Amino acid sequence: MVKVMIFDTHAHYMDEAFAQDRDELLASMKDAGVGTIVEVGASISSTKDAVALSRQYDFVYGAVGVHPEDVEHMTPETVEWLKELTKEPKIVAVGEIGLDYYYEDPTRQVQKEWFIRQLEAAKEMKMPVIIHSRDAAQDTLEIMEEHCDWSQGGVIHCFSYSVELARIYLKKGFYLGIGGVVTFKNGRKLVEVVKEAPLEQLVLETDSPYLTPVPNRGKRNDSRQLTHVVDAIAQIKGISREEVIRVTEQNARRMYRIRG
Ligand SMILES: [Zn+2]
Repeated sequence: MVKVMIFDTHAHYMDEAFAQDRDELLASMKDAGVGTIVEVGASISSTKDAVALSRQYDFVYGAVGVHPEDVEHMTPETVEWLKELTKEPKIVAVGEIGLDYYYEDPTRQVQKEWFIRQLEAAKEMKMPVIIHSRDAAQDTLEIMEEHCDWSQGGVIHCFSYSVELARIYLKKGFYLGIGGVVTFKNGRKLVEVVKEAPLEQLVLETDSPYLTPVPNRGKRNDSRQLTHVVDAIAQIKGISREEVIRVTEQNARRMYRIRG
């Protein structure tokens, strides 16, 4: 029987936090029960990196996109370049894209403009999207209502909003990305969301090197730490760890359209 393995739908292994031991660490993933990783672009340079990493490792896929904090470097040419990259066989999504009003730089207007353009690019290329949205619930939903092709699917990464808002995205067929926050003492709201959402619409994510789950909170995160997130979801839903790993793995493959 094939062992069910963890699928990390959102990581940043090209971050400098992994400069010393990246290859060693990635080589150890299979033995640690991690079967697949998606390296997510968040800027122009990290998008290039995500493409490179997905070419290097058979179990690593990539997503291409520019995070709201970095969009001031974008031009219409960058959008065309992203569209070209989505044609690569191992590029599985456009992201991470969205709005982050925690910082007001770049301005909300600038963030919105490039969020819309990247959503339209994903629609044109028929790609799923990875959405980053912080302190921007209303504007994110409004823009997505107008510019997202819901039928292509996608994930609200690091979902941090209410159960009511979760229901809206779930109804659209979107997935919710669940990571270390579900183990945090102040993660109560997310626990409620996990309780409410069908397991068939949850995916595991680390956001490595950030958001390390308890008991290792504060240290560098990597995909092996997802076992703590699996434990938390299993406990919340009253099901086995194996079921959490198996179903979230299937969900991730369905969402990113990875066969096999
Ligand atoms: Zn991220």
